[in-house]
Amino acid sequence: MSETPTGGVQPGAPIGPIAFLGLGHMGGPMAVNLVKAGYTVTGYDLVPAALEAARAHGIATADTAADAVAGAAVVLTMLPSGKHLLDAYRGTSGGPGQQGQPGLLAAARPGTMFLDCSTINVDEAREASALAVEAGHRAVDAPVSGGVVGAEAGTLTFMVGADPDDFEAVRPMLEVMGKRVVHCGAHGAGQAAKICNNMILGISMIAVSEAFVLGEKLGLTHQALFDVASAASGQCWALTTNCPVPGPVPTSPANRDYQPGFAGALMAKDLKLALNALESTGVAAQLGPMASEIYDTFAAEGGAGRDFSGIITDIRDKSEQPRGQA
Ligand code: NAD
Repeated sequence: MSETPTGGVQPGAPIGPIAFLGLGHMGGPMAVNLVKAGYTVTGYDLVPAALEAARAHGIATADTAADAVAGAAVVLTMLPSGKHLLDAYRGTSGGPGQQGQPGLLAAARPGTMFLDCSTINVDEAREASALAVEAGHRAVDAPVSGGVVGAEAGTLTFMVGADPDDFEAVRPMLEVMGKRVVHCGAHGAGQAAKICNNMILGISMIAVSEAFVLGEKLGLTHQALFDVASAASGQCWALTTNCPVPGPVPTSPANRDYQPGFAGALMAKDLKLALNALESTGVAAQLGPMASEIYDTFAAEGGAGRDFSGIITDIRDKSEQPRGQA
């Protein structure tokens, strides 16, 4: 492992040490994979239980965020939201016991690579990158897909927004945590790719689910509709991999009572980010906002912890009896 004492990062060279902030469901296992690959990682989280779990997996932890980033060449964040990220960068909050601590940008050595893997608004990602660069650092946004299973297995997909040299610099460590790393463009492009993809996914899952419920009403078996649509123009991931009815795709969450998978709360979150981007860009979208509203309701009415394909049960429950059978 080559380290860069001044915090400078050479394109393509493995970089470290790494300060890893946010050791939750995703960050915990991602940090473990970096340690297993030989990176020097110092973890920090606001929640003591997350710190204990990290230590149990061999990750060194710091008492404060500032201590974690002090000697780091890379500050990797995996936080719940853009507000958490911007607050942490600026130091305007830090949770119980952390008030008065400097922000991460001020605490880091000049030239530190700020690598954010959280899923946040595109505008927030651009703001975070601009703040980092203004403070004399380097910045990459690299949100992920693949969920906790992908984080544990090191098979995440990273969607990266960065200058080309910064992309090449972080690529080796992203390849430790993921199996696919895509450079999507400049700062914010990683977040843009993530929310565009997940808007397609949310809309297509609703479409597939409505079609299955309509098929039920029309007397079609699930298998018959699947056999036709999966080999025809209705083919999509929501149908052929995450099929919302049990049977046709035995590995889909529908076969295990909609245990996630990809939880409804996360789909609602990502669609809200897409909605924010639709509004800020003025796109005349209709289905994206509707999908956001549908998944908000799904999450609020008990679907937050269920796989997002469970939306089909809502559609079925809310469907009227056929005329003449009410
Ligand atoms: P999580 O809530 O399990 O973990 C977030 C962690 O960040 C928590 O442990 C929290 O205590 C910590 N934290 C908050 N503020 C902090 C601060 N200032 N300093 C240090 N730690 C802080 O969330 P998660 O499921 O790990 O998701 C993290 C991010 O990854 C989110 O943006 C989420 O949208 C995204 N994501 C999640 C999944 C998934 O399947 N869980 C999939 C893809 C993307």
